[in-house]
Amino acid sequence: MHKEKLLEQLARQIIRCKLCRLYRTRHYAVPGVGDSNAQICFVGEGPGYNEDQQGKPFVGRAGDLLEMLLRSIGTRREKVWISNVVKCRPPENRNPMVDEVRTCKAFLIEQLKAIGPKMIIPLGRYALEHFLPDGKISRDHGKPFYVSGKIIYPLYHPAAALRSEKVLLQLKAEFRRIPAILKMDKSEMKVVGKKKDDENQMSLI
Ligand code: URA
Repeated sequence: MHKEKLLEQLARQIIRCKLCRLYRTRHYAVPGVGDSNAQICFVGEGPGYNEDQQGKPFVGRAGDLLEMLLRSIGTRREKVWISNVVKCRPPENRNPMVDEVRTCKAFLIEQLKAIGPKMIIPLGRYALEHFLPDGKISRDHGKPFYVSGKIIYPLYHPAAALRSEKVLLQLKAEFRRIPAILKMDKSEMKVVGKKKDDENQMSLI
């Protein structure tokens, strides 16, 4: 099936999904937006208030910052693909629960499989843990990893950068490296996953 059709089909499933408790309190589910042929996919944590109201990811203050960062490397929202680990807003912006993440992951895996990006940028801890279960955002931000044929380049979550000038400066600097990292060879990155682990990792991407 054509990737756009596949993504639309997944979006329809996400909008109707009642597999975890979050459907009860959501206004809109937020499947994801952007170019189905994107080379770069950004994955955040989960929708906040504004995203829940509009059904689109990163449209609040963190989204404004993400857009500014995208412009800083000569691109824009429409040219990348943006989504979250959980597709419905956790009430009161609490962190997503383990079972909510586990249930929702299947959608993200299918979406990324359909798009087939070269690089995935997990924004913040929850997204990082999906791609690198042993990852730690305070240690691994700004370091490119090579996992099952994809570049995983974890960055701080824009919301964290809105709370700390130091994090903002780091995020801006690490964001600017995206074009260079996209051109890097596998040998220049930390390769994650031995033979057996590789199979597990594969299922995450
Ligand atoms: N924070 C996220 O993690 N995702 C959004 O879509 C918005 C804010």
